[in-house]
Amino acid sequence: MASLEVKDLAVRVEGKEILKGVSLKVSSGELHAIMGPNGSGKSTLAYTIAGKPGYEVVSGDILLNGESILDLDPDERALKGIFLGFQDPPPLPGVRLLSLVNAVYNKKKGLPVTGRGDPRLFKKVVQALELVSLSTEYANRELNVGFSGGEKKRMEVAQALIFEPEVIILDEPDSGLDAEGVRSIAKIIDGFRKEGRALLVITHYARLFSFVEPDVVTVLYKGRVAARGGAELARRIENEGFSFLRVN
Ligand code: ADP
Ligand code: MG
Repeated sequence: MASLEVKDLAVRVEGKEILKGVSLKVSSGELHAIMGPNGSGKSTLAYTIAGKPGYEVVSGDILLNGESILDLDPDERALKGIFLGFQDPPPLPGVRLLSLVNAVYNKKKGLPVTGRGDPRLFKKVVQALELVSLSTEYANRELNVGFSGGEKKRMEVAQALIFEPEVIILDEPDSGLDAEGVRSIAKIIDGFRKEGRALLVITHYARLFSFVEPDVVTVLYKGRVAARGGAELARRIENEGFSFLRVN
């Protein structure tokens, strides 16, 4: 059983307080949606959980399986089973999916990271690429270099499939995808949930959640939790947008 808990988290970026006391919890087998208009702090929350430098935790805590991870570096957090699929994945010239997968595998096993990985990894990579509708050649292309927006998103989800993390955070996995793409990503997200992973899925469109129902929806607004509910809250946002945040 994995659980990720964010407790009264306040975060400063470049001297500006962006998150002002956010709390939430997600456990194995749960899909927790984080919604909210642009600039409400969703990506800041994701980066802070992943440990991105420059995201200063002013107060509060982040617990993985009950233990604080605030003192851990991003790679240590990843090795403990936290995966972040970026909203806007950066191009990584010279880094290829297959070599990245080999390096992570070696690191987990305590082997030299540049060594050859397990040959079975290739099969896993090919299967993951197929599930996200990317051709096998993407195993050896430089990551995100010249990729379209949708291809980048598919590649992030492929990595979540390959690395089998206990906690999966996906930051706008649906942006830039056509309806069929959104449907297939939703199916994969549901698969992750059935496998018992803990999921935080960030999006400002409710469209994704017409294909996979979230267990909990947390709405962020101006760095605070503005609303929390079940799947009905995502449906309300689909119908009304975020206008209710401003009137309430
Ligand atoms: P969301 O993902 O909900 O659209 P973000 O977390 O990206 O929102 O941003 C929240 C707020 O923090 C915005 O007002 C944004 O301008 C600000 N912000 C994010 N990153 C930085 C940064 N590196 N420097 C200064 N302000 C930032
Ligand atoms: Mg964002």
